Amino acid sequence: MAVKTFDQYVESLRKLKPVAYMFGERLENAVDNPRIRAGINATGATYELATSAEHRDLLTTVSPFTGEPINRFTLPPQSIGDLVARVKINRLLGNRVGTCHQRCTGLDCLCALSIVTYNIDRKHGTPYYDRFLEFLRYMQHNDFTANASVTDVKGDRGLDPHAQADKDLYLRVVERQKDGIIVRGAKVHQTGSLSCHELIALPTRAMGKGDEDYAVGFAVPADTRGVIHVVGRTSMDSRELEGVDCGNPRYGKYCPTVIYDDVFVPWERVFLCGEIDFTGEMVHRFSAYHRQSHGGCKSGKLDVMAGAALTMMDYNGTARVAHLREKVVDMIHKAETLYGCSLAASYEGKREPSGTYFIDAVLANASKLHEGRDMAEATRLLIDICGGYVADLPSDRDFQNPEVGGLLKKYLQGAAGSSVESRVRMLRLAEKLAMESADTVSDIHGGGSSQAHRLTILRESDLDYRKRCAKRLAGIEE
Ligand SMILES: Cc1cc2nc3c(=O)[nH]c(=O)nc-3n(C[C@H](O)[C@H](O)[C@H](O)COP(=O)(O)OP(=O)(O)OC[C@H]3O[C@@H](n4cnc5c(N)ncnc54)[C@H](O)[C@@H]3O)c2cc1C
Repeated sequence: MAVKTFDQYVESLRKLKPVAYMFGERLENAVDNPRIRAGINATGATYELATSAEHRDLLTTVSPFTGEPINRFTLPPQSIGDLVARVKINRLLGNRVGTCHQRCTGLDCLCALSIVTYNIDRKHGTPYYDRFLEFLRYMQHNDFTANASVTDVKGDRGLDPHAQADKDLYLRVVERQKDGIIVRGAKVHQTGSLSCHELIALPTRAMGKGDEDYAVGFAVPADTRGVIHVVGRTSMDSRELEGVDCGNPRYGKYCPTVIYDDVFVPWERVFLCGEIDFTGEMVHRFSAYHRQSHGGCKSGKLDVMAGAALTMMDYNGTARVAHLREKVVDMIHKAETLYGCSLAASYEGKREPSGTYFIDAVLANASKLHEGRDMAEATRLLIDICGGYVADLPSDRDFQNPEVGGLLKKYLQGAAGSSVESRVRMLRLAEKLAMESADTVSDIHGGGSSQAHRLTILRESDLDYRKRCAKRLAGIEE
């Protein structure tokens, strides 16, 4: 088994028994809960496409680590071609699910670990890289999905981890035992943590002296004893549970808070433990890969947004209106800018000592900075083009109501040739594209806040070279 089908993926999740809560109650069957299932379906698209005749060649390859065919969502890139494939696959998935497919974060952890564990071993003589390779082969052979347990709750943002009043506000090692470690803490905004087989925990920031217990990286199954998933509220959640007015009923996104309540991690699953000098590199590598991933999937979502805008123009009789066509051009421009930066980050990638290819971090961060601003602007354009019904369309249940349904169908007609049902469906999709909080907030905060992107650009850009260019032209010699 190395490339799972969609059904095999769903069945493999059924074997897990995670402890989860939603709306104050224990969630006994996450897989069949409509809300979680919408997220599972989105991740499931990565399995569906990998086993489809049309997209198999793009989504699968042969692993240099196992020699087996694998889904690319388990492969740290081994060439520029692998880096480029990541972006193309993410765009295709954005087109396919119109929201976050939720499988990139785990891969981005695997990518970071494949570089940094090797570098730690070279400096400290630790055994992390071999442990990591063993874990990677396990992930590839079983075609498992991982989650990124990166963002800590963080308490007072002005204080270092060890300086917090409550010592557990960053995930930490509370005990070292013969067979492994005990960890305690909580990670937030855990995209699709119940659609995953494994949770991969990495530090959320660079750490210094005194933070040794917080410098910890590991992987555990999503149903490990002591792991508690608390599913967060989002703008679409009640509709997903009721099964009405979803806009894009098959796919959705959810992001639990995950509590590690004294969780045992065996040593063979520990990939960082106390090496504070590599925490900065770990988070830098993870977030740079993750920002490259966003350039692909969000340009894919923008394609859907432009498609919804164009279709609504047909339905509203505004298809030839010049200022609306211009606005669609702006949306396409934004998609191609994101995609272009993300592709460029891939083509400018370089081989690291472990053999993994790393992207150009400045270009990846430039892509993410565009995303934070331009997805919001694209949403504004979408709403402008579609009209005010993005905000307050009557429910499907009103259209089905024998007393008022007929009147609604009469008054919600659009241009000749468009059906009321199609018009209502497309408006609903536009609403979800614009206002699905779990996805739209990730345009801004997913992969770190905009300031984190700016700081990376500043740190990774060669500022002296730029000064030298200017000075040479100005005739200044130093
Ligand atoms: C939908 C969504 C999905 C996500 N998925 C995942 C996931 O799967 N896995 C994961 O690990 N994380 C995930 N994240 C978390 C994401 O990486 C964080 O939200 C992001 O890093 C910001 O952290 P925060 O939310 O704690 O905000 P904060 O850290 O509180 O930041 C708020 C603001 O304060 C600023 N700020 C904070 N501290 C300082 C400081 N010391 N100095 C200066 N400025 C500061 C920030 O720049 C920002 O502008 C997701 C987030 C969202 C919204």
